Amino acid sequence: MNTTHRRPIIVGNWKMNTTPDEGGPLADAVCNLAGDLTAVDLVLCPPYTGLHAVSERLKGSGIGLGAQNMHWESEGAYTGEISARMLLTAGCSHVILGHSERRTILGETDEIVNLKAHHALATGLTPILCVGETLEEREAGRTEQVVTDQVHEGLSGITADQLRQIVLAYEPIWAIGTGRVATPDQANHVHGTIRCLLEDMAGADVATSVRIQYGGSVKPENATDLLSQPDIDGALVGGASLAADSFVAIVRAAV
Ligand code: PEP
Repeated sequence: MNTTHRRPIIVGNWKMNTTPDEGGPLADAVCNLAGDLTAVDLVLCPPYTGLHAVSERLKGSGIGLGAQNMHWESEGAYTGEISARMLLTAGCSHVILGHSERRTILGETDEIVNLKAHHALATGLTPILCVGETLEEREAGRTEQVVTDQVHEGLSGITADQLRQIVLAYEPIWAIGTGRVATPDQANHVHGTIRCLLEDMAGADVATSVRIQYGGSVKPENATDLLSQPDIDGALVGGASLAADSFVAIVRAAV
C-alpha cells in the first residue's frame, strides 16, 4: 500500500494479444473482480481492434480505456497509423507513449514521443509516457543519465499544468517480459530521480502530484513490495494483465 496522497493507477497493457472475442470477456472479468476497488484508477489497453468491444464492456464501470500508441498528426496520409481523435471516439481516455517495444523494435525516438505527448495533451488524452534503460546501460552505470534524457526530451515544451495530467512509467527494459524484476529499492531510486527532474522542470507542487508507475514483470507475488515504495504510484502491467485474477490481485496490492 502506498501512503502518499497520490491515487494509485494500474494499467493493463495487453500488447498484441486478444481478439475482440477474447478481450470483451477479459474486460468483463476484470470489471467483476475489481468492482469494489474504487480507491485505484484502472485502465485497460487492448489492441486497436479490441477498443470497441472493451469500451462497451467498461461502460459504467469507472475503468478507463487506453490505447497502446497513436500518431502525432490529427489526420492524413499515414498508412497504418491511428489518430488521437479516432481513439477518443473509440472511448479512450489514456494512451501509452514511448513503450520500450516501440522504441527498440520500431525505432521510436524521444523526439517522436515528445510530438505524441503534445498532441495527446492537446486533444484531451492522458499520456502514459514510458522511460527506462537497457541492461547494458544499467551495467555501465548510465541508468540515471538515460532516464534523465528521456524525461527531458520526452517532456520538452510541456507546461507545468500539462505535466500534472501526465502519468509516467519507469520500465527498465531488462525487466519487461523477462520475469526479471527491479528490486523495490532499485525502482524507487529511479522514481525518486524522475520526481527530482519534475521538480526542476515544474516545481515541487507539480512533482509531488505526478504519478509514476513501475513496469517490468509485475506479478501478484512482487506487487505489494513494489507498490509500497513511497515514489511508486502504480504499475504498468503486461503479461499479468492477460488474466483477470492476476491483474486484479496486483490492483488489490495497490489499495
Ligand atoms: C509492459 O508491457 O509494459 C510490461 C511491463 O510487460 P511485463 O509486465 O510483461 O513485463
